Amino acid sequence: MNQDQEFELFRSNYQRFLAEYVAPYYEQWEEQGLIPRELWYKLGENGFLCVDVPEAYGGYAAPVDYSLMLVEETARAGFTALAVAIGGQSELVSPYIQNIGNEAQKQYWLPKMVSGEVVVAIAMTEANAGSDLQAIRTQAIREGEHYIINGTKTFISNGRNADLIVLVAKTDSAQGAKGMSIFLIDAYLPGVSKGRALKKIGLHAQDTVELFFDNVQVPAEQLLGEENKGFAYLMQELPRERLSISMMAMGAIHGAIEITTQYVQARKAFGQYLSQMQNTRFVIAQAEIKAKAAAAFLQQCVDLYQQEQLSIPHVAALKCFITDTQGEIIDQLLQLFGGYGYMQEYPISRFFVDARVQRIYGGTNEIMKEIVARSLLGK
Ligand SMILES: Cc1cc2nc3c(=O)[nH]c(=O)nc-3n(C[C@H](O)[C@H](O)[C@H](O)COP(=O)(O)OP(=O)(O)OC[C@H]3O[C@@H](n4cnc5c(N)ncnc54)[C@H](O)[C@@H]3O)c2cc1C
Repeated sequence: MNQDQEFELFRSNYQRFLAEYVAPYYEQWEEQGLIPRELWYKLGENGFLCVDVPEAYGGYAAPVDYSLMLVEETARAGFTALAVAIGGQSELVSPYIQNIGNEAQKQYWLPKMVSGEVVVAIAMTEANAGSDLQAIRTQAIREGEHYIINGTKTFISNGRNADLIVLVAKTDSAQGAKGMSIFLIDAYLPGVSKGRALKKIGLHAQDTVELFFDNVQVPAEQLLGEENKGFAYLMQELPRERLSISMMAMGAIHGAIEITTQYVQARKAFGQYLSQMQNTRFVIAQAEIKAKAAAAFLQQCVDLYQQEQLSIPHVAALKCFITDTQGEIIDQLLQLFGGYGYMQEYPISRFFVDARVQRIYGGTNEIMKEIVARSLLGK
């Protein structure tokens, strides 16, 4: 079997996994606002979490595109809330620990993340600090062999399920970017609590919550990397997060085109199939044309990432372009379903509501444009 065949076999195994363990239950999870823990164990058991982690830490040392493909396929099947969950674990947090963590942190957390025993969340955003992350108020004050942490985080994906919270806090409140640090926080420590599930317009199966830290005593060895270097680490790891969001966009675009293509060949109006009407044909053709352009840009960025050459402005351009494209395409495809497109029982409606946040999290698309502009025009 050559490499391409191996990759496609892995993809089809995962598609079967989604059909068996996710599709029948997803609506129930949407009602509960939670992906059950059993699913995390199943993902781990079947080798679908953090697949690029080295074997020494319980992983499979798979190339990064294997890991990204899982996120893409999940979104393509219409399960974007699960894609966000897996992306948070495998694409966001795992690289932080792999690249910045010390040996003890890697040995302790990574095998459990691969097996699904540990679910992770990354907590940066606060009520008054989203785009402007330097304005965070959560504080970590060193006292002997511990840090004492106080603060509140909001909009945290995987927040309810989280066993490990990767927390961004201020260790030097007199400084902005240069006073931030990252901590690996055991979610069961005294003083850590989780708020109610936030009600959202989409991603209904995602457990997005507030997190509270009330005099949490964190052992100093749970600092990730060096003190006050948190912002630099965030900058270093952001390309992977934005690549993952872009993968979700690509998967969702393809998934939405697939279900729309089926629908318009089955639905009739005025005695003919919708697929025979020029408007329908042009909308779908236009979606496919944009999808092909997006796929080429995305593949270029994946290749650059694998060569360790993906720059922050380049991936910002991708994230902005592909999530805008996702929004436009899915809006136009939904129109082809008429009133059924507005009904929750038609998956296109889920593609539509789940698409909206893609332009907001991971850095808003305005911030992406700012990054691109800065690369051309300076500050
Ligand atoms: C469903 C969901 C899941 C999330 N998951 C997580 C998570 O797991 N962990 C986490 O830490 N965060 C998470 N977030 C938070 C997300 O990253 C932030 O919402 C996002 O970064 C925007 O911050 P904000 O909401 O404070 O908006 P603001 O920063 O207040 O932005 C408001 C508006 O102002 C614009 N704006 C701000 N600054 C500028 C500027 N300089 N130039 C031009 N326009 C600007 C923005 O683009 C936006 O349109 C999540 C959010 C959502 C909705």
